[in-house]
Amino acid sequence: MKIAILSRNPKLYSTRRLKEAGEALGHEVDIIDTMHCYMDITSSKPSVRYYGQALPKYDAVIPRIGASVTFYGAAVVRQFEMMGTFSINESVAISRSRDKLRSLQLLSRKGIGLPRTGFAHHPDKIDDLLKNVGGAPVVIKLLEGTQGIGVVLAETKKAAESIIEAFMGLKANILVQEYIKEAGGADIRCLVIGDKVVAAMKRQAAEGEFRSNLHRGGKAEIVRLSPAERKTAVDAARTMGLNMCGVDILRSNNGPVVMEVNSSPGLEGIENATGKNIAGMVYDFISKNAKPHRTRTRGK
Ligand code: ADP
Ligand code: GLU
Repeated sequence: MKIAILSRNPKLYSTRRLKEAGEALGHEVDIIDTMHCYMDITSSKPSVRYYGQALPKYDAVIPRIGASVTFYGAAVVRQFEMMGTFSINESVAISRSRDKLRSLQLLSRKGIGLPRTGFAHHPDKIDDLLKNVGGAPVVIKLLEGTQGIGVVLAETKKAAESIIEAFMGLKANILVQEYIKEAGGADIRCLVIGDKVVAAMKRQAAEGEFRSNLHRGGKAEIVRLSPAERKTAVDAARTMGLNMCGVDILRSNNGPVVMEVNSSPGLEGIENATGKNIAGMVYDFISKNAKPHRTRTRGK
């Protein structure tokens, strides 16, 4: 098959591995810089142009759209969809998953385990906001944060109030969440492809830190999932309408709770922790599913 990886940086581990794994399976794989694509949307024959030429017809695209370029990246993916090219993750699902509030609302509607969460922009009654999630300690998150930046643990009511006031002063949207202490600074990254968790790892936060992000010094190790955890991850992926994603779960006293669903999950940590050829599995899915004009809006 002829497949394009939409990525801004061919040197990134995930991009390199996807190219290498696809070629090893006999596919023709191009890396296309999403931000250099431009589109002809006035004609009835949609096309994507790149460095002065129309791109050839691809059987499938693998979008690796960074959070900072979601808006334009999703438009490029949509253009491929309009040309009938299969995208492993559809544009609508990518945009949806990047909006944390929308994601939590959709997941909660499906009854998927979540930490008690409130969100606000300018709460007049901070007291009430805190009470609704069970009171301090709470985790306060800037909606726009990634890689654990803008995620703060407030141990006391006083601390929580000051942090919320500070964020309010910045006119930021915030999430206030029950602190899942029993997770012990660990989260579980489940990699879902199709309807299966194909790999999972546990990330343990560095000493004295509650955020387990690898960027924050967390360490990854292989983990065995319970059936409930597998089901939660697969249900979350399906609700978001993503065929390939990373679902982050915390082990709470009330069972697995979903933190977030990532539509461009990194492959380095999880391939290293599990020794699995995840990039290869992406192509197994594409080979089975990439029919022309197959991409359509899913998700609940
Ligand atoms: P980001 O999207 O920036 O990675 P997350 O919401 O995933 O932010 O939070 C980063 C990390 O902080 C999580 O991986 C988890 O280890 C920890 N964490 C986040 N929320 C909670 C919570 N409510 N209870 C316990 N730990 C949490
Ligand atoms: N199918 C979902 C709905 O109609 C999609 C909503 C969304 O993506 O926000 O609610």
